[in-house]
Amino acid sequence: MGHSSAAGTGTILVAAPRGYCAGVDRAVDVVEKALDLYGPPVYVRKEIVHNKYVVESLSRRGAIFVQDTEQVPEGARVVFSAHGVSPQVRAVAQARNLATIDATCPLVTKVHREAVRFAKEDYDIILVGHEGHEEVEGTFGEAPEHIQVVGSPEEVDDVVVRDPSRVVWVSQTTLSVDETRETVDRLRERFPLLEDPPSDDICYATQNRQVAVKTIAPRADVMIVVGSANSSNSVRLVEVALESGAGVAHRVDKADELDPVWFQGASTVGLTSGASVPEVLVRDVVEWLQARGFPTVEEVRTETETITFALPRNLRAQMAASGMGETRPHAKRRVGVNHTS
Ligand code: SF4
Repeated sequence: MGHSSAAGTGTILVAAPRGYCAGVDRAVDVVEKALDLYGPPVYVRKEIVHNKYVVESLSRRGAIFVQDTEQVPEGARVVFSAHGVSPQVRAVAQARNLATIDATCPLVTKVHREAVRFAKEDYDIILVGHEGHEEVEGTFGEAPEHIQVVGSPEEVDDVVVRDPSRVVWVSQTTLSVDETRETVDRLRERFPLLEDPPSDDICYATQNRQVAVKTIAPRADVMIVVGSANSSNSVRLVEVALESGAGVAHRVDKADELDPVWFQGASTVGLTSGASVPEVLVRDVVEWLQARGFPTVEEVRTETETITFALPRNLRAQMAASGMGETRPHAKRRVGVNHTS
């Protein structure tokens, strides 16, 4: 992003990394490639990623979003979203003879595998996460008899385990790092032999976006997080901004939800976006602010991300069989060009 000479003296601090993570990039790409390969309609169970704009863009191209696998016609093709599904959902899809393409983020799949392994070893598993979130439903479904969901440090008091020496915690991938630490500390006070997951379950993208926000929040009179209300990691970014010293913080889906009143008297605005947010929506916010007294844009980078995930194997094989190249727009997307517009 460059500088502008519009009227006013305010500064926009833009967090980096922000926006698309590797799992979202892949999931959106899966639907786009499936549409190219098979033509519409392609059914998608739940929102492919939690972002209104992405869902609307893909709907226009012929994706049909359904809440339930039962709503997909027998024998049709369905994409499972980035948040993952439980074995029960897979069983329903099989029973209905659906052709499935699994866009579950590999980092969510990793947590599923941990849950399955610890359940096999007969642990009580504490899943730190938000009840009702699709990812939590999917992970929980891997071992419902062994898993309890804990949403906050306060809920730790209600946990009951069979054997305090065989308890492990795992987590949703998009939580607040600090709040999760508090929850785990409380769990460990109650169960000193609590075991940790083999590696961090809160994913690299969630962590990196929180670190970037923590860095700019103390300088921001107002913090704007671009992201949808049902996007866990976006909502966490608002909380992290407030905890880290931002004067106020607002989440918006897009620029036209911004209210000029929020910026009265402010000289520095912090800006970031959740992991499911296309860069075009951030650019719109920058332009909106530049037209209202914040001409200077400064990007504050705390990490450079290079991770990418390959497309699902069955999709790759069918693309190869029909002579379709596997071009992925990562390089362009890293510098912020949105591919769904
Ligand atoms: S936020 Fe993390 S876990 Fe979720 S899709 Fe992105 S990389 Fe995967």
